Amino acid sequence: MTHVPVVPPPTISLPPDAPRMIPFLDLKRINARDRDRLLAAMARVLDSGWYILGQEVREFERRFAEYTGVPHAIGVANGMDALTLVFRALRELGRIAAGDEVLVPSNTYIATILALTENRLTPVLVEPDPRTFNMDPARVREAITPRTRAILTVHLYGRLGWSPELQAVADAAGVPIVEDAAQSQGAALDGRRAGSLGLATGTSLYPGKNLGALGDAGVVTTWDAPLAEAVRTIANYGSQRKYENRYKGVNSRLDELQAAMLVVKLDRLDADNARRRTIAARYGAGIRNRAIALPEPGPEGAHVWHLYVVRADDRDELQRHLAAHGIQTLVHYPTPPHQQPAYAEWADRSYPIAEAIHRTVLSLPMDPTMSDADVDAVIATCNTFRGAT
Ligand SMILES: *Cc1c(COP(=O)(O)O)cnc(C)c1O
Repeated sequence: MTHVPVVPPPTISLPPDAPRMIPFLDLKRINARDRDRLLAAMARVLDSGWYILGQEVREFERRFAEYTGVPHAIGVANGMDALTLVFRALRELGRIAAGDEVLVPSNTYIATILALTENRLTPVLVEPDPRTFNMDPARVREAITPRTRAILTVHLYGRLGWSPELQAVADAAGVPIVEDAAQSQGAALDGRRAGSLGLATGTSLYPGKNLGALGDAGVVTTWDAPLAEAVRTIANYGSQRKYENRYKGVNSRLDELQAAMLVVKLDRLDADNARRRTIAARYGAGIRNRAIALPEPGPEGAHVWHLYVVRADDRDELQRHLAAHGIQTLVHYPTPPHQQPAYAEWADRSYPIAEAIHRTVLSLPMDPTMSDADVDAVIATCNTFRGAT
């Protein structure tokens, strides 16, 4: 075997007058604000000698349940596990069975759908309303069949995908709503928060989410005590008492260190979401370009702007234009789930709204620590796209 030399990273020294880069999201800057409290919490966990299922996880679960406004929160390893465990628990409780249909958006992040197929459930893809990016309740109603057992709504980009209309459709069909709140921590409608709107919710606390750990983390919230107990048990090898296994469970626990980080970071969530709203409002008022369609804020409080997603027919050109001016953007997401190789069995299907969304969306920088000057630079650059003024 030949030895491959490690190439040292180039040292980049920008000239003093070089244009600044505007990052899409600066996690280092975000977490630096809590540096002292995070380090103190890390030291507390280190010195405790107790690293799995202890008082830090209990405290985070208590605080997050209270914040969400539900009786039960269960810390788990990540957001995809949170969703997978909700459906696994429903299966173990006999409330859903392999082969049953679950309605889910055609334009979501793949993890939402993986959580269903992992449980051998049948995802039924429902097209979104292009104005909200969320499932259209009228299409949800049309998609219901006698085999429908749940509606898995995703609060995509931070905007609530729950509405009284959707609830009415679910109630009429007699099926529960499950929430994917990975992008919407803190979003609320009439004082009811994401994570408390449906029967149960899976939330990701991945570092880049509105509430993010310093590693992988997730949480399930629910109103339902037997479901909460089943999730907690399955996530710990199916065991309630040591060496007694009720289910063929998995190991998906939130660890003490991440729980301690999250307790610190939860204190900032509302203020950070307020700052995201201010940035979104500034974008909304400032960007004036017929080639760029702006997202709608929706009802008061219902959007926490995990992402600020604009649409442009020539999205790739807009992305290049912004990059040329030092502005980093991302695409959420380039390929809809039904066109992924992982779901090759859906390759002949067509979901034209989802396909059009994936072709045209672009996420502008959105970060609660962004300065107004940087927001204004993004606005000005959007306004010069295609020679518009
Ligand atoms: C991030 C995300 C997930 C998955 O969460 P992980 O913690 O990365 O497993 C699921 N659904 C949506 C909509 C997400 O954005």
